[in-house]
Amino acid sequence: MYHTALPTPVAPGLEALRLPLPFALDHVNLWLLADGDGWVLVDSGFGDEDGCARWEELLAGPLAGRRFTRLICTHSHPDHMGLAGWLAGRLGVTLLTSRGEWEEGRQSWFADPADLLARKLAHYHRLGYPPERLEAMRQGGDIYRSRVSPPPDSFVPLADGDELRIGEGVWRVLTFGGHSPEHVCLWNPEANILIAGDQILPTISPVVACWPDAPESDPLRLFLDGLATLRRLPAETLVLPAHGMPFHHLRQRCDDLAEHHRRRLAAIAAACTTPATGFAIVTALFTRPLDIHQQGFAGGEILAHLNRLEADGQIRREISPAGVWTFQSAPPLP
Ligand SMILES: [Zn+2]
Repeated sequence: MYHTALPTPVAPGLEALRLPLPFALDHVNLWLLADGDGWVLVDSGFGDEDGCARWEELLAGPLAGRRFTRLICTHSHPDHMGLAGWLAGRLGVTLLTSRGEWEEGRQSWFADPADLLARKLAHYHRLGYPPERLEAMRQGGDIYRSRVSPPPDSFVPLADGDELRIGEGVWRVLTFGGHSPEHVCLWNPEANILIAGDQILPTISPVVACWPDAPESDPLRLFLDGLATLRRLPAETLVLPAHGMPFHHLRQRCDDLAEHHRRRLAAIAAACTTPATGFAIVTALFTRPLDIHQQGFAGGEILAHLNRLEADGQIRREISPAGVWTFQSAPPLP
């Protein structure tokens, strides 16, 4: 349906812009919303040199002559907010996003790369990753800055419940945890359209993982709460996801994702009948070969499920003298 990097009408005053990504995810969908004689851009694309070059081609070609009024970013991940700083300057627009995403992006950009890497290695050591895997992660270094342009100096904070007047339409801000700290979705009740970012996707399960800054957090609870909220939107809502095609079966998709995590929780609980590290569970559950980057995601996702099971009283955590976590089924309550 979409041609790469050609704006494609989706609804009155709403166009899709599909940009390629340099990894398996393949593409990210950006959205253009008519705003008087200008356009609001939702999400910015991946922040490497190719991303800037592609935007220059767009601005010289299919988007030539367009005026941009605002840039809204759904969340801080590099394929969404990666070019926010560069585009804010290039287009002369202000960035709007939630405070949680703004702070996440700023902290990732301004953190000391050596400190980030040390905390990452400590995280995967706790999960029981063996020394050779940790060494491969160390050699991979921290690649965040190669995927993101310097963030803008200021932003307009968006909060859950805010209403944005864009052209003829009013878009309500809905924020969610689980995939990222304070992910922004935009909901237009009159047009019955949800700009969903990564909060809900049509074919893949959004990443829900624990990262080194909050290894004992419970993002899966937040994500499942978010699915319950999304499920209450009208059944016929048109969902515009950041990856994949627009879809209508929102409630079914919420149910399918909740069921996916229920099955995952059951499988991980079963893997803890004898004491298991996060790495042992990654090895048991991911049978396909994973590159070192995917191994990091897999560990973070398994840990999110382990933390949910522990908060639910189904498993308990023990810490070895070397600081490695093991998880085991909790004895049933008397
Ligand atoms: Zn994301």
